[in-house]
Amino acid sequence: MSKSQVSIVKTEPQPDYEAVLAAVRKSIDLIGGLDDIVKSGQLVLINPSWVAAPADKETGTCTWPEVSRAVADVVKAAGARPIIAESSAVGVDCEKVVKESGHAELRDLGYEVVNLKDDKTVKLPVPGGGLILDPMPVWETVDRADVIITVPVLKTHDQTEMTCSIKKLKGLLPDKTKRAFHQQGLYDAVIDLMTAVKPSLTIVDAIICQEGMGPIYGDPVEMDLVLASRDLVAADTICGQIIGYQPEDLKLSVNAAERGLGTMDPAAIEVVGETVESVQRRFVRASEAAPKVTVNGFKLVFGEETCTGCRNTVYSILHQLDGEGNLDYLEKIAILTGGAAFPEEGAANGVVTVGDKCTPKDRRGDRHAKGCPPNSVDVVQAILGDRGEAKRTYADDPDSD
Ligand code: SF4
Repeated sequence: MSKSQVSIVKTEPQPDYEAVLAAVRKSIDLIGGLDDIVKSGQLVLINPSWVAAPADKETGTCTWPEVSRAVADVVKAAGARPIIAESSAVGVDCEKVVKESGHAELRDLGYEVVNLKDDKTVKLPVPGGGLILDPMPVWETVDRADVIITVPVLKTHDQTEMTCSIKKLKGLLPDKTKRAFHQQGLYDAVIDLMTAVKPSLTIVDAIICQEGMGPIYGDPVEMDLVLASRDLVAADTICGQIIGYQPEDLKLSVNAAERGLGTMDPAAIEVVGETVESVQRRFVRASEAAPKVTVNGFKLVFGEETCTGCRNTVYSILHQLDGEGNLDYLEKIAILTGGAAFPEEGAANGVVTVGDKCTPKDRRGDRHAKGCPPNSVDVVQAILGDRGEAKRTYADDPDSD
């Protein structure tokens, strides 16, 4: 059986558009070109990351406009019609991110740049059946496209360890469905989405990445890399290796491979261009960026079932509360994940249980954050109880549902 190819191309520091175009072209040429992916006359959806502000290039939050433009130019050269389109995270003003990320300037140059939050929604079947959602609500442009090329940024992620080609697909969903993914089981729902939309290619923008509290509040890391692959699972496996993860550390890749959507077996992947070893740099994990909390009576217990979803979500909200100067809300609070037993001595200000799948109904605290993994805002609300109202920190419409 032939191996899945993943190309790694090193560009120059702070590359200009011509350098980015050369790197994108080379990354595609190294895996055999676009001939079997894009045909003349086809509509090609190029899907960058516009997750949220801060979106300027130095932050590593969003795909560089030069990368989106380069992919569009390669698609145009193949005789197809590129549309650069995406929807930001729940509650985020997507148009604002289009402007801040520099993508609005591409409109002035004649490129079609579409804020999908203005689009209609349709439902796509999930071939073979979805585990969480079937049919899958997506933006209409996703259905109209003949080919989907995902253009993620390589970042650590405060819930899924890493976000890259697979996790990035959530931008193809309406906000309501993005939220439903967290409530009903993110790790399987994203793979339902991948099965339904069948992306043909990933071009990874690893020029400025993020480590620590990605995907929004991480620290930028300049890597000056572009990667490409027809196999999104293989691409994410190699990206994971570059930043220090073993393939099995990445649950989305594990689930996608189990459902036959690609390979995470390094022996079945051919890396072309640069070697992994020559570009490797271990990224700080979200869990390592969390503060040590010494608030009176605060208990944090990760039960045996805890996976990175709830673990990192809790670390992320500790980081958030610390940044807001609100760690005192944790006084005499116990946070339990993964089916952890209630503390015998109790918790005067409340027991917060986190995550549905690992917390049976009869083991839930007086405050429970539902979801798998729960959205951070729901965990913060469970901690606050009636002492305040949690808001999405990154959202322009924090109350958006
Ligand atoms: S509920 Fe359980 S399986 Fe789901 S994210 Fe939390 S720890 Fe992981």
